[in-house]
Amino acid sequence: MCIFFLQSRLESNNIDPDILTALHKLWKNNVPSKVGVFGWRLLLDKLPTRANLASKGILSSPHDLPCVFCFQVAEDCNHLFFSCNKVTELWRQVCLWLGCDYNLQEVGCKHFLSFGLIIKSKKGKKVRHLIWLATTWCLWRTRNNILFRGDKADFSALLDQIRFISWLWFSGRAGRKA
Ligand SMILES: [Zn+2]
Repeated sequence: MCIFFLQSRLESNNIDPDILTALHKLWKNNVPSKVGVFGWRLLLDKLPTRANLASKGILSSPHDLPCVFCFQVAEDCNHLFFSCNKVTELWRQVCLWLGCDYNLQEVGCKHFLSFGLIIKSKKGKKVRHLIWLATTWCLWRTRNNILFRGDKADFSALLDQIRFISWLWFSGRAGRKA
């Protein structure tokens, strides 16, 4: 995919400068291509969340709309990845692992950019957005496994998965096409 072509198209379409900054930082991470595309879609709110499917008329029943993690709020991108109670607890654990304070109230690209700022250590700076991608990628996989495989919402092993995937990507063992 020609990222620079997409980026220049977005620039000419008057996209929020914060989103453009986030997208620019996103592509600097050494992650598999499909994860880069996933991050791109997330930041632009183009993932097939329940709210997005409903807005296109693909989902119409109110029973299809709740978040599969908490079943209390309609699943849109910001709730699913940033503000669901289950998810904020996971971000707190990720921050604890990285030795920084959790204080992320923002959503979407602002969450992405703030996450980059809270990591102070030199070592952390190299991988901050890679870990952000690993966390959101694991959440999306967990959500899909609940919806399409009938798995239970189990967050207990997610931090270990995020650590493992981050290491895999950072060490280049996953390859760009994995
Ligand atoms: Zn929820």
